[in-house]
Amino acid sequence: MKVRIFEIFTSVEGEGILYGTKTLFVRLAGCPFTCFYCDTKESLPLDSGTEYSIEDANKLIDSNLKKQTYKVNFTGGDPLIQHQAVAQLAKHIQEKNIPTYLESSCFDVEKFNHVLPFIDIVKIEFKTKDSEFVEEKIYDKFITHTMKCLESSVNAKKTTFIKIVVSSKTKLDDFKELTNQIFSTVSKNNISGFVIQPTYGVSEPSLDLLLDLYDIVYPNYIDVKVVPQLHKFIGAP
Ligand code: SF4
Repeated sequence: MKVRIFEIFTSVEGEGILYGTKTLFVRLAGCPFTCFYCDTKESLPLDSGTEYSIEDANKLIDSNLKKQTYKVNFTGGDPLIQHQAVAQLAKHIQEKNIPTYLESSCFDVEKFNHVLPFIDIVKIEFKTKDSEFVEEKIYDKFITHTMKCLESSVNAKKTTFIKIVVSSKTKLDDFKELTNQIFSTVSKNNISGFVIQPTYGVSEPSLDLLLDLYDIVYPNYIDVKVVPQLHKFIGAP
């Protein structure tokens, strides 16, 4: 089996509930989606990055692992595009007793379930309708998959949290519908966080909009947080 890795680097986690932690990022190549705010566009082509055997990729990861690294983050692109390879790489990391972390739009529950046993912390990213992730007519199909991945992760008792990127285009009604769907799928007690992440540098939401979005989540989950991409403020990748 082969794997295409776009880049591998140590940095400070800038997103989600574990922001601030020293992390080894393994950015997998490939993502077929089209979010207008995507900040990793270079890694979207399936043939971007460099191809390795799993054995060589594991060696590459080992040679990049620094001391006191809190976790290894499999990111992309979308790592589920290469789910079989990611499962093998994550297994290798787990054998070193380092937590593994998956960040994905969770677009395919079968691929997700294949990787899940080897992942400790899961960031489930729900896309809003305005994200341009996919064409509107097939949006619901993908959200159904993301919802099933959320359910699966919670049932497997993984540390699971939700992230939603919002922009000035995000509509309150759409966001409310998505939030209601999420909390009719899982109990607030079974998730470890709910992060509203404003877009950076493109169609940025106003503070008023962010507060309105916060107010939609709060009655369901009082620990909701608005967290920008903190790594951008220190010039980290
Ligand atoms: S799913 Fe992620 S990697 Fe793919 S286009 Fe959207 S933001 Fe970019």
